[in-house]
Parts: sequence; structure tokens; C-alpha cells
Amino acid sequence: MGFLEPKKTCKPGVFLLTMASFSDNDMDNLVEPERTEPWMEKRAVYPGFFDPITNGHVDIILRGLRVFEKIVVAVLKNPKKEALFSTKDRVAMIQEIFAHQPDIEVKVFDGLLVDFVRRHKAKIVIRGLRAVSDFEYEFQMALMNRQLDPEIETLYMMPSVNYSFLNSSVVKEVFSLGGSVKGLVPEIVEKKLREKLKPGRLSLGK
Ligand code: ADP
Repeated sequence: MGFLEPKKTCKPGVFLLTMASFSDNDMDNLVEPERTEPWMEKRAVYPGFFDPITNGHVDIILRGLRVFEKIVVAVLKNPKKEALFSTKDRVAMIQEIFAHQPDIEVKVFDGLLVDFVRRHKAKIVIRGLRAVSDFEYEFQMALMNRQLDPEIETLYMMPSVNYSFLNSSVVKEVFSLGGSVKGLVPEIVEKKLREKLKPGRLSLGK
């Protein structure tokens, strides 16, 4: 018997948890709710490359603040992945965007995410989920992180539909071809893109 049992009387697409459908085996597979220190769920880590941060990332951070008291934005320093902006620049842009929000901390990380999360006394990782295309990679990463540390949970949040098509690569590409990225990235990012890339090779229309 499944964990989530569709209730016959509810509207199509609405699923309710029905305790009656649990067998003993199902109960064995459930995670024991554990009592944790009060501060533990108050903070979450939001990791990413942020090359550069977009309004999609900002949307997820602000949504995260509705659930957690503190968000630690963890900027990946990955020498294997080529970046347009240096780690220092990526961190500086995020710090400037959230300069007036003391609940948001920006840190650099490399190595295992679970180690970073533990070091910052958090138990939750936030990730954004835009579309089904994100799912496979995110699924694999969440389960691998759980394998590495079963105490850490990954929480997915959906951005506003306005940003659900957006990623850093598309922003860089559109901008470098002369297209407008207004409203898709914070102003400081637009300014930094202007300094880095020379727009106008081919206009994508504004
Ligand atoms: P990307 O190149 O996809 O922007 P990042 O490593 O910077 O990659 O992304 C960090 C996290 O933010 C990931 O969980 C990713 O799915 C999420 N994310 C990226 N862009 C958006 C967006 N537009 N809306 C919501 N989440 C996003």
C-alpha cells in the first residue's frame, strides 16, 4: 500500500494522507521525527554558482526567508567550472543586493556541501526548482547528499512563474548578444555585465 493514497471522494489531483492505508512495513520505512536544538531549523543554506545571481535566485532567497530566520547563501568556488565572474565578484554582488538584510549571509564554499552545512550549524538545504528539466539533477544531488549525511534535508521551492525560464547562462548569452536583461537580474548585476561584456554583437530585441 502506498504512502500517499488518493482519496476516492476528493477532487481529481487532490491527494490526502490516509493513515488507514499504512501497513507495518510502511511505518518501518518512515523517518523518525527527531527533536532538534531550537536553532537548528532557523537557518538554511542556499548553495549555487550564481554566475551571476539572477532575480530567480533572489526570488528563492526571499521565499526562503518566509520559512527560515536566516539564509546562508553559499557561493560555489569551483576551479573546474569556468565562470564569467570571479568568486569575489559573485559574492560582492550578492552582498550588495542584500546589504540591508542582516538575515542573509553570503559565504564561499568548496568541497562537500554537507560539510559546509554542518559547519554552519544548519540542517536544511534550499534549492530552486524551475521545471521538470531541473528534477533529474536535483533528485540525484539531494539523494547523494542524504547518503553523505542523513541528518540534512533538501527543500525545494518554486520561483515566481516570471523567473521559471531563467538561468545565469541565458542571461549572459542574451546580454552578450545585445538583448535586454532588465527585470531579470538586479541592477548591480546589469551594471557588472555591462562592464564585463560588450553588448551589441547581435541585438535580440529589447
Ligand atoms: P543556474 O546556472 O541554474 O542558475 P545555480 O547553481 O546558480 O545554477 O543555481 C543555484 C540554485 O538556484 C539551483 O537550485 C537552481 O535550480 C536554482 N535556480 C537557478 N535559477 C533559478 C530561477 N530562475 N528560479 C528558481 N531557482 C533557480
